Amino acid sequence: MSEIIYFDNSATTAVSAAVAQTMYTVMRENFGNPSSVHIKGIEADKILKEARINILKALGERNPIQEQLIFTASGTESDNLAISGVMNYKSFSFTPRIITTDSEHPAVSEPIKFAEARGAEVVRLSTHGGIIDMDELKDALTPNTVLVSIMLANNETGAVYDVANAFRTVKELSPDTLTHCDAVQGFMKIPINVQKLGADLLTVSAHKINGPKGIGALYINHSLAIKKKLSPVILGGGQEHGMRSGTENLPGIAGFSCAVNEKKNSMAERAEKVTKLRNQIINSLPEEIKVNVPRGRYLPNIISITLPKIKSEVMLRYLSQYNICVSSGSACSAKHKNISPSLTAFGLDASAADSTLRISISSDNTSDEAEKFIQILNDGLNRLVRMR
Ligand code: PLP
Repeated sequence: MSEIIYFDNSATTAVSAAVAQTMYTVMRENFGNPSSVHIKGIEADKILKEARINILKALGERNPIQEQLIFTASGTESDNLAISGVMNYKSFSFTPRIITTDSEHPAVSEPIKFAEARGAEVVRLSTHGGIIDMDELKDALTPNTVLVSIMLANNETGAVYDVANAFRTVKELSPDTLTHCDAVQGFMKIPINVQKLGADLLTVSAHKINGPKGIGALYINHSLAIKKKLSPVILGGGQEHGMRSGTENLPGIAGFSCAVNEKKNSMAERAEKVTKLRNQIINSLPEEIKVNVPRGRYLPNIISITLPKIKSEVMLRYLSQYNICVSSGSACSAKHKNISPSLTAFGLDASAADSTLRISISSDNTSDEAEKFIQILNDGLNRLVRMR
């Protein structure tokens, strides 16, 4: 059997050796409950607090305070906490409006649909070609807009949206509107500074950066964190400053923090390596394959390609026989048969979207893997398309 070529790093990543070791140590030795007042509890609480400050600093927060980061069980939960937390905080005497984009991950679009079903008005900005329409945003902002939620980088096309500009416009025209950014794909790939981004709330997740699965976090800006103007979704013992009850997943939290440490000083270096691999792949793709390159900024690690006359599912299975792991659309939508809203929002018609593969590489991939992938993809096209 040939070696596995893992080109699905936007779905998830392997836990690094240092992260696994850190987690093992915390599981075996620092097993205390951070809420306990004895020595094991104090020891665990120290690990928890240090991890929080470490992640806040990685988000560019210069004077971090504990209340500004809530650990959750996933990026999905953090997105839900942000959206439902704002929508459920108080009952509105007017119809609240949410502005978002037409290409958010379901972790954002679904809780927004839920709010819509309960009476909120929702405006979805177009992101054609990977660009947010700023005029649409200005027109959509009303005094009733309570939340604007825009992702940093799209999980299917890699498009990096101009969130800083969008949130600056929001704060200029409607200072009381809260801003939320789902930064799951961009975190540790491009520098993030929550202040410069203008995000009141921001979501991150560990398993996309060689950290463990099942641990995410929600950043909350200073004044919101102090005033606690967000309602929790999970109620109970009051952990995480009352914002997310449940005994903390300390091994996950320590693993998350370790993954951040491993990545924080190598962003430019990793981006350079990934860009080289990306160029190698794109330059050797057969002519009939179309690369869906965003018009603005994009993450170099995500390559979206549309195949000629073949459904992505068929090619996915072909590649899988040769131990090549890629995905069609995002991992979350791959098992659901409906057409990806992100791809149609980008400008692909339904048939092109159904023939689109996502290759998501990492700096751990090699040039040899890229070469082998191209060769097998070409063989696949010969057998499945050209010979028909
Ligand atoms: N947001 C984006 C943009 C994602 O790509 C993902 C996962 O793919 C999520 C949110 C959900 O994160 P998690 O898998 O930690 O729930």
